Amino acid sequence: MKFLRLTDYFERLEGTTKRLEMFEILSDLFKESNKEDIDKIIYLSQGQLLPPFLGLEIGMSEKLLIRSISDAAKTPTKKVADIFKRTGDLGKTAEELITWKGQDLTVEKVYEEIRDVALTAGAGSVERKIGYLSSLLKGVSSKEAKYIARFVIGRLRLGIGDPTVLEALALAQGNRTLRPELERAYNLCSDLGLVAKTLLEKGVTGVKKFHVRAGYPIRMALCERLPSSEEIIEKIGKAAVEAKYDGFRVQIHKNKNNIDMFSRNLERTTHMFPEIREAVRNFIKADTAIIEGESLAYNEATGELYPFQVTIQRKRKHGIEDIAKEYPLKFFAFDLLYADGIDYTEKPYIERRKNLETLIKKNPIIEPSALFITDNPRAIYKYFEDSIEKGLEGVVAKRLDAPYSAGARNFNWIKLKRSYHGELADTIDICIVGYFKGRGLRAKFGIGAVLGAVYDPKTDTFKTVTKVGSGFSEEEWERLRKILDKISIPHKHARVDSLIEPDVWVEPRYVITVMADEITRSPGHTAGKDKEGIGYALRFPRAVGFLREDKKPEDANTVKEIIEMFGHQKKAKAG
Ligand code: ATP
Repeated sequence: MKFLRLTDYFERLEGTTKRLEMFEILSDLFKESNKEDIDKIIYLSQGQLLPPFLGLEIGMSEKLLIRSISDAAKTPTKKVADIFKRTGDLGKTAEELITWKGQDLTVEKVYEEIRDVALTAGAGSVERKIGYLSSLLKGVSSKEAKYIARFVIGRLRLGIGDPTVLEALALAQGNRTLRPELERAYNLCSDLGLVAKTLLEKGVTGVKKFHVRAGYPIRMALCERLPSSEEIIEKIGKAAVEAKYDGFRVQIHKNKNNIDMFSRNLERTTHMFPEIREAVRNFIKADTAIIEGESLAYNEATGELYPFQVTIQRKRKHGIEDIAKEYPLKFFAFDLLYADGIDYTEKPYIERRKNLETLIKKNPIIEPSALFITDNPRAIYKYFEDSIEKGLEGVVAKRLDAPYSAGARNFNWIKLKRSYHGELADTIDICIVGYFKGRGLRAKFGIGAVLGAVYDPKTDTFKTVTKVGSGFSEEEWERLRKILDKISIPHKHARVDSLIEPDVWVEPRYVITVMADEITRSPGHTAGKDKEGIGYALRFPRAVGFLREDKKPEDANTVKEIIEMFGHQKKAKAG
């Protein structure tokens, strides 16, 4: 496909406010793609060069892009910067300055040239990156330049999530029943481009052959929640109850001497955990293995586990060695997904756990998570209270005969956190879909509240549930506004369902965590809206922390969860 043709599609995707239309445009695009370029088309549409677990960053800033445009258009950087100031969009800036016809490059060619920019590293790389990008811009038309410019600085703003791509791929094949098969393959390899390419090359039979492989992260299984230990036992019977550690979730892939680690969001985090890597090399008795667990900072002298605020200091690019000395980590392994040719994901939890324990040689860093098996709710509650006392987050109860549910949230794992009893004590993750300009004191920041939505996987949309106007510091409001302006769009995004019109719409991209006093019924919001038009809303919401960079928009809480929490809250009030 020609890149210009792809930008026609981008333009249409950008222009639509209707969810179904978005699927149609995307599925037309996939129909027109061939097996050579479908993977690249998918990556580009999602604003990436490769899936995030491969960790390839383009490394372009606004400043470097301005210099590249200036070089390509033979215009002083000052003028480029002025146009940027006026338009607020480097895409439009490039469009305005690049006025020639272009060489009608293919998607493949443009992709390769941007990849060259990304792969350029080391001494003198800044100048070379600028050189590559400006020479690409010299060969494209103004519309192509607009999208290339936005792409390289991560501002394509199309808001196409993974479920959207899966649905559109099935639609493009004229067979929506393909979706579960595509999803299964995606859950096992976390690479949508690879799934789509396999589908076009080898058909459904090829997709059915996807299996677990060391090096390809498996999309992580997630927990449901219940308010009490009684309900847990009622739901899943005798269960394994594990301590719930509050650290970084890590999926470790050992492939002989190659050891890689992935975060909850499937980003490569190997560089963050050198001591765990060494321990895996020396103490895991398998040549190839995929193991999951939680890593936490702890006090070597007392054995005490530190809170998340301490562990999170590991999240840095430089100085890992120093922080590792100051705050060493423990890794609590809680699942085994693969070992030496055996795919454990389909095997029952209890078998996975047994094999996991036999794989770990005694060592000071990796240990199996603490656990006990019971069908007694009072024993769970006692264990839960002890865990809280020790500074843990609570417990996770696991169904003994359940497989590992890659990429799914279900009752195979149930979390019980501090005080689900009584008022709404658990936090809620919402996706920001727009913001309101501030009044009064806040006017000076230009932002007074954000419009937040929960996710509805059935329709792949975000439904509003609250306006959040407190919880951030002044400095955070300022920072937030800058971040949101970079993803602002001129109208409601096609995947957003809202009755409220914020001052500025944004691409659904960022998740924040909020506390609220309670969930109420409300005609103002679309989350869980019934026939009478009454939805659900959060009362007195306030943000905790800043942006949840470990969560994708689809990881926000779901409409179903809000309705369940509303049910628990009603029960608790009645009791
Ligand atoms: P979620 O991951 O469910 O979307 P979250 O990131 O807010 O939400 P919680 O819901 O609080 O996390 O808890 C789930 C997380 O708990 C897991 O992703 C994992 O990182 C962590 N965890 C800690 N201990 C365990 C354990 N023993 N078994 C499974 N998960 C555990």
